[in-house]
Amino acid sequence: MSHSEKAAIFNKNEAKVNWHDKALWYVREKRDNAAHGVKGWEYLRDTASKIKGNVLSNLDNYLIEFEANALKNGIKVHWASDAKEHNSIVYKIVKEHNAKKVVKSKSMLTEECHLNPYLESKNIEVVDTDLGEYIVQIAKETPSHIVLPAIHKTKEEVDELFQEHLGTKPSNGNPEYLTNEARKHLRNKFLQADVAITGVNFAIAETGGFVVCTNEGNADMGAHLVPVHIACMGIEKIIPKEEHLGVFLRLLARSATGQPITTYSSHFNKPAEGKELHIVIVDNGRTEQLSREDFRSSLHCIRCGACMNTCPIYRRSGGHSYDATIPGPIGSILSPGKDLTKHSSLPFASTLCGSCSNVCPVKINIHEQLYKWRQIIVKEEPQPFVKKSILKIAGKVLENRTLYNFAGKSARFMLKYAPKFMIYSKLNAWGNARDLPEVKNTNFDDWYKAKRKNKK
Ligand code: SF4
Repeated sequence: MSHSEKAAIFNKNEAKVNWHDKALWYVREKRDNAAHGVKGWEYLRDTASKIKGNVLSNLDNYLIEFEANALKNGIKVHWASDAKEHNSIVYKIVKEHNAKKVVKSKSMLTEECHLNPYLESKNIEVVDTDLGEYIVQIAKETPSHIVLPAIHKTKEEVDELFQEHLGTKPSNGNPEYLTNEARKHLRNKFLQADVAITGVNFAIAETGGFVVCTNEGNADMGAHLVPVHIACMGIEKIIPKEEHLGVFLRLLARSATGQPITTYSSHFNKPAEGKELHIVIVDNGRTEQLSREDFRSSLHCIRCGACMNTCPIYRRSGGHSYDATIPGPIGSILSPGKDLTKHSSLPFASTLCGSCSNVCPVKINIHEQLYKWRQIIVKEEPQPFVKKSILKIAGKVLENRTLYNFAGKSARFMLKYAPKFMIYSKLNAWGNARDLPEVKNTNFDDWYKAKRKNKK
């Protein structure tokens, strides 16, 4: 199914779409207030973009430096070329410790690698401990947003889910009650766990340590309670020096939720005494993306979600309509690089208004890259006959002034006098969801000429 077909399903529930739209716009506004409160915000964005640019140009060196320093600290380092290798490395570690229960804090990389179903197929229990992730896990769904994984669910829906899975009392969606119940339930899971898996927000080449950001402290809770901590990171998570952390930490939380800083920014530098700390460094298509000159800066992404919160298409189509681990504008750049045919509709799921590029804390030219993908897709992927023919005709009309004027006149006439069923037909996808604007009698050219004449 294409993005627009999936979006049409989400759009059936108009009240929910409006609520989704409003909720995300609220987060976007919080981001604006937070950004405007920081002197030199643009300077910070520029600096972050330059640091990331430097990292991508010297990725091999920084990764080797990181590995050497991490090993010196006593961290066990593993390399995975793809999702399959990542999953089997994680499983091998879990098995070596006879572990049966795993607690996992939020990690989009493990989502991308489909780690949960893989471990579950090996009879390992995996519990997502981020509240939003936990909600989508028990609902047997995937996250619809990278920072707010359950943003597509109302509190009343969560209430029902908890009644079904945790045996809670009906609370009319009382967030305090529901959060407390989840906390009690997850506390037991933490206490029973053998292994903790976390993501990595920033890995520092200079020190061989890494930082995990959460608002709930669930990564720390898991990592500190169990004997084995496995951190999974994409190769692009490297930053060169510890002094660069301040730049990214100031940008990340403000861009994501409008907070000055994430509640927990936990630094892991070495295993605690008697415990093991593993790090799995994963490529899974990233070096290929790096080789695509026009798209390499998409690897600057620090997964703040701001481009999703601001995108008018994402807000009104829901994250699941993208059918990809990373939805929204940045996902629409990353996904076609992995499977062009499957994700060929995604770069078209944008108004190209540029709002995503404007909010991106690491200055990725998101809308320009989406436009670039479109150009590749129309050449490489078969296009529907109707779309191809219409665009061909449009090209001819637009390059010929007489034809253009004639088409304009005919369209104005048709829109005014043709029967409705002809105007709101299959050819007019725009008219599926909205009325066309009222038609004026003249075009701009005639109006302008008449104005000038009257002035003389
Ligand atoms: S592309 Fe930019 S705005 Fe979007 S999630 Fe990544 S860092 Fe945030």
